[in-house]
Amino acid sequence: MEQIPMVDLKGQYLRIKDEIDGAIQDVLDSTEFVKGGAVNRFQQHFEAYLGVKHVIPVGNGTDALQIALMALDLKPGDEVITPTFTFIATAEVVALLGLTPVVVDVDPDTFCLSAEAVERAITPRTKAIVPVHLFGQNADMEAILSLAEKHHLFVVEDACQSIGSEYHFSDGKVKRSGCMGHIGCTSFFPSKNLGCYGDGGALFTDDDEIAQTAKCIANHGMTVRYHHDRIGVNSRLDSIQAAILDVKLNHMEEYIDHRQAAARFYDEALADIPQIILPKKNPHSTHSYHQYTIQVPAEKRDDLQQYLKVNGIFSMIYYPIPLHLQKAYRDDRYRPGDFPVAEHLSKVVLSLPMHTELKHEVLAYISRKIHEFFECV
Ligand SMILES: *Cc1c(COP(=O)(O)O)cnc(C)c1O
Repeated sequence: MEQIPMVDLKGQYLRIKDEIDGAIQDVLDSTEFVKGGAVNRFQQHFEAYLGVKHVIPVGNGTDALQIALMALDLKPGDEVITPTFTFIATAEVVALLGLTPVVVDVDPDTFCLSAEAVERAITPRTKAIVPVHLFGQNADMEAILSLAEKHHLFVVEDACQSIGSEYHFSDGKVKRSGCMGHIGCTSFFPSKNLGCYGDGGALFTDDDEIAQTAKCIANHGMTVRYHHDRIGVNSRLDSIQAAILDVKLNHMEEYIDHRQAAARFYDEALADIPQIILPKKNPHSTHSYHQYTIQVPAEKRDDLQQYLKVNGIFSMIYYPIPLHLQKAYRDDRYRPGDFPVAEHLSKVVLSLPMHTELKHEVLAYISRKIHEFFECV
C-alpha cells in the first residue's frame, strides 16, 4: 500500500529540480561555500519578501532565537515570557543564556500565547515576550504589542512555523509574520514552510542598531576582523542552502496556496464529524498551515493515530508534553494543572499530513479513513 507521509520533500524537489540543481551547481562552480553572492542575494530577496530592513542569515532557527536574545543585552535573571505549548527551542535558548523562562498558557482556539496570560505573568523583572506563531498563524499581536509598549518590553517573534502568513491590525496595516515585534526569527529546516536541504535560519528586524549587534554576535562578536567587541557565536547560513532558498522563495506564494487549499479540503471533508475539533482561525491573521492540527477526544487520539498508520497514513503529535512538565525544565514554580489549556491540548492534538504536494485523492482518502474510524461513513 502507498504510504502517505507528513511531508513530501521529494515531490516538491522534483517539480523544481532543474532550477535547484542549477543553483547548487553555480555555488559549486564559484567555490564560495561560506558567505558570498548566493547568501547576499537570498538575504536581499528575503528582505524584500518580508518588507523588513535587515535579514541576518544564521545556522538554524534555534541560533536565530539565541542571537536575537543576546542582541537585546538582557541580564541573568531577567524574565522572558513564552508559551508552555510549543517546541522546546523557544525556552531552551532563554535558559541557556541564564535568563529566566516564564511560561504561560495558550489560547484554546489558536494554540498561541494568550495576551491575558502574558499580562498576568508580567513582573518588574520581565524584559521580553517571545510569542510563537504556532502551526502557521499569528498570535494575538495587537494585544501583545500594546502590553509590550506599556511595560517597555522587547518582543521577539518565533516565526519558525509561520513564514508566509500575515497579520491584520485594526488600523488596516498588514504585516508579515515575524515583522511586528523588535526581532523576528525563523528556521529553514527542510519541512518548514520555507525549507532548505539541511539546516538554516534567519533573524530579521527594522532596527539598525539591533541588526548591527546581531550580525556582530553571529560572527564571533567581531566587527573589524580579529577585533572581538563582545562574546559571540559562529552561526552562518551555508551558500548552498542560501541558493536553494533563493529558488524556493520564488515559489512561496504557490506553496502557501497549496497548504491553504489542503486545509480547506480537510475543513470541508471533516466538518461533519462531531467528535473532532478542526483548527480555528485567528480572525486577524491568515494561516500558512505549517500544520493542520485537529483535536480528538483524549481517549480516542492514540487509537485514531494507530488506525491511520495501519492504513498507511502518518500523523504526528505536536506537542505531547508542555514545557513546564518536561524533565529538563521542571521547576518549583510550576505544577501539573497550572496551565490547563496547554495540558489539555497535549492530550488531544493530532497533526495530519500537510505539505505542498497533497492531491485531492490523497486528502479524500485520509478524510475517509477518519470518517471510518468514527463510524461516520
Ligand atoms: C523548528 C522550530 C524551531 C527551531 O528551528 P531549528 O532550525 O530546528 O533550530 C524553533 N521554534 C519553533 C516553534 C520551531 O517550529
